[in-house]
Amino acid sequence: MKPIYMDHHATTPLDPEVLSAMMPYLKTAFGNPSSTTHDFGREARQAVETARQQLADWLGAADSDEIIFTSGATESDNLALKGIAYRSPDEKNHIITLAIEHKAILDTAKYLQKQGYEISYVKIDSHGIIDLDDLRRQIKKNTALISVQAANSEIGTMQPIAEIGAIAHEHGIPFHSDAVQALGKLDINVQRDKIDMLSISGHKFYGPKGIGALYVRKDLRLAPLIHGGGHERGMRSGTLNVPAIVGLAKAAEICERDREKENARLLQLRQKLRQGIESQIEHVQLNGHPEKRLPNNLNFSFAYVEGESLMLACRDVALSSGSACTSTSLQSSYVLRAIGVPDFLAHCSIRFGLGKSNTAEQIDIVLDLLRKHVPRLREMSPLYDLAKAGVDIEQLSWKDHDHDIHE
Ligand SMILES: *Cc1c(COP(=O)(O)O)cnc(C)c1O
Repeated sequence: MKPIYMDHHATTPLDPEVLSAMMPYLKTAFGNPSSTTHDFGREARQAVETARQQLADWLGAADSDEIIFTSGATESDNLALKGIAYRSPDEKNHIITLAIEHKAILDTAKYLQKQGYEISYVKIDSHGIIDLDDLRRQIKKNTALISVQAANSEIGTMQPIAEIGAIAHEHGIPFHSDAVQALGKLDINVQRDKIDMLSISGHKFYGPKGIGALYVRKDLRLAPLIHGGGHERGMRSGTLNVPAIVGLAKAAEICERDREKENARLLQLRQKLRQGIESQIEHVQLNGHPEKRLPNNLNFSFAYVEGESLMLACRDVALSSGSACTSTSLQSSYVLRAIGVPDFLAHCSIRFGLGKSNTAEQIDIVLDLLRKHVPRLREMSPLYDLAKAGVDIEQLSWKDHDHDIHE
């Protein structure tokens, strides 16, 4: 059987149109965009500035200067948090975020905490949606930044970004959003939604890997993490990756062009997959919000079936699991735990990340595989025996460690 890729939250393939747009800059147009004394440099500079303008327009930014190119969203997230923290006066040392953010946010926040910054995590409900009243309660005089993702990469939950932006602005606090999973799917406009900083990553929307950007509202100054030639208004030094930048803008253009059609198609495929699972397989639980989720995301727990074993059984389908076994530890997803999914169900979770290459026929193949393997693996599960005998599985304890599925 031909392999099926259903892990589009982890990465996406490069769009052939994007590759074509990049090719001249990988071959002949090799100039350094900082060397504008000659045509080689000027040609590269022109390409970069056109891309910057395209991305600014895409995000609804007021000015193309507000786009800072980075090596990807991990760097963008680091720059947003540390850039604010390190330039804020000593008395502004408090950052508000969510416990279900990407590790690029969570680990940066933990690092800042070790350096004396205060981090607060806003309450979320069992679907992963932010509690806006709790957000208001967490705001203090010394709050320097609110950082909330637009959509979650494991459970697809979408946050009320514009409402968060409004609250942040009422209090004069900058608002950062990691919009990596949402871009190309949701309609995001940084001015309308009152977003002051926004992280993007090329390889999550059919662009190249190793390129991303941070939108930074004009009047915000960030402490740079990388010092050097003063590129990107002094906020991110280093010779610009011209082919990747051109590819990033092209990928954005294609996403915007195809967004409505592709979203509608993804929703249909997802509906088919969801209905198939819910109607044909017993003991399943949908993780995340039933509606407020990315059109390409499903996350199901198949009770009594270890996620890893199910992935192994369906090895021709590229999926992700909220569980991972190593010889020394049994781990479950921090996102699922944070929304209160019991460990035994978190270990049984599978993330389906749909994308451009997926077809209705592939959904049928995946449903066939699940129908075949889930009951078979269940019959082999000692937990299933215990459950059938009436033992309360939730009370059994699991040895747990942090684990992140690749986002
Ligand atoms: C993938 C991802 C990142 C990291 O992006 P890279 O460009 O791979 O560094 C950050 N946040 C979210 C939500 C992601 O899905």
